[in-house]
Amino acid sequence: MKIGIVGGGQLGQMLAQAGQKLGHSFKFLVPPGECCVEGLGEVIRNDFLDQNALSQFARDVDVFTFEWENVPQATLEALSHFAPMRPAPSCAQVAKDRIQEKKFFQAAGFSVQKFAPVSCHGDLAPALQHVGMPAMLKTRGQGYDGKGQRRITEKSQAADAYKELGSVACILEAFVPFDFEISVIAVRAKQNASPTSNSVPGVTTLFYPPCRNQHINGVLHQTTVPAEGVSPTVLQQAQSAIQNMLETMDYEGVLCVEFFVLNTPDGQQLIANEMAPRVHNSGHWSIEGAATSQFTNHIQAITRQELGSTNLQAKSVMINLVGAISSALVARKNLNEHAWQGAPSDSVLEPIENVNVHIYGKSPRAGRKLGHITAVGENAQRLAELAFNGH
Ligand code: AMP
Repeated sequence: MKIGIVGGGQLGQMLAQAGQKLGHSFKFLVPPGECCVEGLGEVIRNDFLDQNALSQFARDVDVFTFEWENVPQATLEALSHFAPMRPAPSCAQVAKDRIQEKKFFQAAGFSVQKFAPVSCHGDLAPALQHVGMPAMLKTRGQGYDGKGQRRITEKSQAADAYKELGSVACILEAFVPFDFEISVIAVRAKQNASPTSNSVPGVTTLFYPPCRNQHINGVLHQTTVPAEGVSPTVLQQAQSAIQNMLETMDYEGVLCVEFFVLNTPDGQQLIANEMAPRVHNSGHWSIEGAATSQFTNHIQAITRQELGSTNLQAKSVMINLVGAISSALVARKNLNEHAWQGAPSDSVLEPIENVNVHIYGKSPRAGRKLGHITAVGENAQRLAELAFNGH
């Protein structure tokens, strides 16, 4: 099939690499500027609201998906008139607004932290009163990788924080003193239906093992799988709430929910923080660490083919390369960092057993995800650090 991907970052790159192995071809709609999908299919580079570009992108495409939910809703809606968009545009809509997302979580049965909308400066005081201190002020939309958020520890900081965020629509959330963070990645697929029709099919939902995530400055640094310290009962409750959400949305594809985990005297508590209606950074380990990667299963789901097993193959540790390729990796290849630009995503290093290096080919910039390392096996943590730090 020809698959149209809205977006052309590393998620689009790894989706296309997985999909090509399944015999599919790809077309991409990307904004002007650098992208990671050159050479993986036809690239339409234009404004996402340009009608001619949308028609050109839609030509010959059998099914669409998106690798980034913060694209204009009108783009996803317009494309879905040409061919099915999976997951449906309405699934992206939920994740575009943090208030809507929290209400959706509550309806599905998740606990969420206290929150209040902040639509203008005058809302700050009552919101702080309701939520308490410390708190996180976040933009309702367009936030990612810790961008668009400020921690507030004193009332006097609120006005400046709101101004720094552009005085746009915000949410004030209680700061959660979590013990650790996890993500749960699910994939839901409808099979036994024509890939391009909407006739009633059978449905399968599978879960990847929970991922334990460590963030630095709001950006994912490391994921370890399986996540240690998660109560099986609590995990099961989270999975059944995710299942509810997937059914409500009639979801097709991979979805990730991020949680804060609190160990309290009354037991473990999960607080749903955020969802991503797409493949997720905390699932990159699955390329080497799972029987079937999140990328392969997303493609299988959106083309309505049978899902592969999500079983863990071996303990996995993924470390992101953020802002710069770590000097240990550069040294091993004896390369100037800029030589990595345009590199294929697969390892360009001489292999270390059980360590895989993925370089996305982006030019380095502070805070930018340039690649990742995945180590698998019992020594995964040590191997990942060895590759990352050189010791
Ligand atoms: P987010 O963009 O909401 O995923 O936030 C990025 C990261 O910032 C999270 O993974 C947490 O490490 C931290 N963070 C965000 N919101 C909160 C909160 N309400 N309480 C504590 N930490 C938070």
